[in-house]
Amino acid sequence: MDNAKPDQIERQVPDGADGRPVLIELTGVTKAYRTSAGLEVRALDGVNLSVRDGEFAVVLGPSGSGKTTLLNITGALDVPTGGRVVVAGHDITRASRGSLFEIRRRTVSFIFQSFNLFPALTARENVQFGIDAAGRTGATAHDVLESVGLGDRMDQFPHQLSGGEQQRVAIARALATGNPLLLADEPTGELDFHTGVRILELLQRQCTEGRAVLVVTHNREIARTADRVIELSGGRVVSDGPPAGGKVDVNELYW
Ligand code: ADP
Ligand code: MG
Repeated sequence: MDNAKPDQIERQVPDGADGRPVLIELTGVTKAYRTSAGLEVRALDGVNLSVRDGEFAVVLGPSGSGKTTLLNITGALDVPTGGRVVVAGHDITRASRGSLFEIRRRTVSFIFQSFNLFPALTARENVQFGIDAAGRTGATAHDVLESVGLGDRMDQFPHQLSGGEQQRVAIARALATGNPLLLADEPTGELDFHTGVRILELLQRQCTEGRAVLVVTHNREIARTADRVIELSGGRVVSDGPPAGGKVDVNELYW
């Protein structure tokens, strides 16, 4: 599995109990840092987490609770100091650097708080970059931008777009890769509440067969619109299930 060729990657995903493939499987994952004073800080402390194909999961926790560490480890951008991480069927804790690169390229796409669009490229060119980076054929930037509601903004540059529109372009660029895992680190953090909820709604709609979405936020209100909330505190999962008080329709939230 370590030396998997790119075209073998999708076929190795194991089935979960309900038959849906498990895209993320974290078992006893720990990430420890040692401070200059010699103290050990555990950014993650024994995290177990399983996310299946078609799932939309929100990771909720205050600043410093380990959210970014969890997302980076899940996306094979970082390695844990303990435990096991299996992403789309690949044990990334045992993979070589070379195969990690391929696993990342073929399985995950990131969306960031600060959008990270290329300023000199139009919306269409930014999305085309995602298609090219993943080596995907058959997809068009035009179609993907239409699917996120930006059909009429394709030839604008990032600075000509609102924050919400820029984040839609970033989502389109992530979708354009065709990768099965969408990881978003505080994607609503720079947006006003109303726009943030709309972005969360758009991300939620992307959970179709063959894709799972993991969104990190510190915003408890926004997390109320999710189906599943995984709450982190001090590097540990303290709850995992529907939002406390039940899922709220985005149109019922006050702002
Ligand atoms: P969050 O995204 O929830 O704000 P992080 O995952 O960024 O949390 O960080 C979790 C904890 O790990 C924090 O206490 C942070 O200070 C610590 N941490 C993260 N990265 C490092 C690092 N490179 N060295 C030392 N401590 C770190
Ligand atoms: Mg963070």
